[in-house]
Amino acid sequence: IDEIMSVTLDQLPLREDLRGRSPYGAPQLDVPVRLNTNENPFPPPAELVDDVASAVREVARNLNRYPDRDAIALRRDLAAYLTSATGVPLTERHVWAANGSNEILQQLLQAFGGPGRSALGFEPSYSMHPIISAGTRTEWVPTPRRDDFTLDAERAAAVVADRAPDIVFVTSPNNPTGGSVPLEDLEAILRAAPGLVVVDEAYAEFSSRPSAVHLLAKFPAKLVVSRTMSKAFAFAGGRLGYLAAAPAVVDALQLVRLPYHLSSLTQAAARAALRHADATLRSVATLAAERDRVAEGLRQLGFEPVPSDANFILFGRFADPTAAWKSYLDSGVLIRDIGIAGHLRVSIGTPDENDAFLQASKEVPR
Ligand code: PMP
Repeated sequence: IDEIMSVTLDQLPLREDLRGRSPYGAPQLDVPVRLNTNENPFPPPAELVDDVASAVREVARNLNRYPDRDAIALRRDLAAYLTSATGVPLTERHVWAANGSNEILQQLLQAFGGPGRSALGFEPSYSMHPIISAGTRTEWVPTPRRDDFTLDAERAAAVVADRAPDIVFVTSPNNPTGGSVPLEDLEAILRAAPGLVVVDEAYAEFSSRPSAVHLLAKFPAKLVVSRTMSKAFAFAGGRLGYLAAAPAVVDALQLVRLPYHLSSLTQAAARAALRHADATLRSVATLAAERDRVAEGLRQLGFEPVPSDANFILFGRFADPTAAWKSYLDSGVLIRDIGIAGHLRVSIGTPDENDAFLQASKEVPR
């Protein structure tokens, strides 16, 4: 057993391009107040828990059989939800689902990226975009945002036209900075892009801006809108992400997805959770109001919260963010050190958790 333990990464025939890289690393620590991964802090309502349990019990009878490979019923339910949320008529043919939107993004890169191809993103943004690009050997083209973290659409479109990436990622609302991108700015990027534009709308439900889904009819061969049940839907543990796009995009992803990638348990649980969407999504208004309260509380303490349309806030300024992060942790509040100079990110929790965070903010070293 000692020999097994002493093998190091350098002794493995790992791909050269993966050597020295760091994995995705949000710490999972058992502390009283966890505000570090942008989850919905409200547990699912009891009726949803019961419905998930009985749906899973029902499909458990057939666990000897593979699940519906194309997850048609689930995709139909997701399309109905998106249609009701946006008013854009979508069917299961426009929707694809996977184990979290991370898997959606990975499948997109497998089909549309890869060796000799490139993906461009506006940083700082979601750290998995470059990590999944690296995993699929897609060249990553980082492009800076403005100093205030907003996106300069004209400049963005010029860089996209110049670099001609196969895939452009636009995260709206953007993680970790919180702001969303207006549709006219997205259009400018879509017009300039020679390839796919993936709008990552993981936090869309928290934003008052219209979804990029409204642009699908205008840019059917370019636009993909990625969504997730991990945030507003309070279903992070269920692992269910999805996209809306032209049916041809769904056809393309079927070339790379693993057969039966969505277990029958996942499909049944997600459909049960979707039946309770109205109840779950009621927390969105509470969280948006709490976000505004936390931002105001931070301002009153002399911090600079970045305007957010999501369920988290990037805020500064700290001389030493890592020391400040540690001080929060010592007070039992886990937030996120994203590696942005002078800043930390806090997810919006329950009112009590937010109070604990604001209380800890009074004592944190700046
Ligand atoms: N996109 C963004 C912008 C995110 O912040 C996250 C989660 N942190 C994801 C995608 C992936 O979430 P999931 O795989 O749980 O859907």
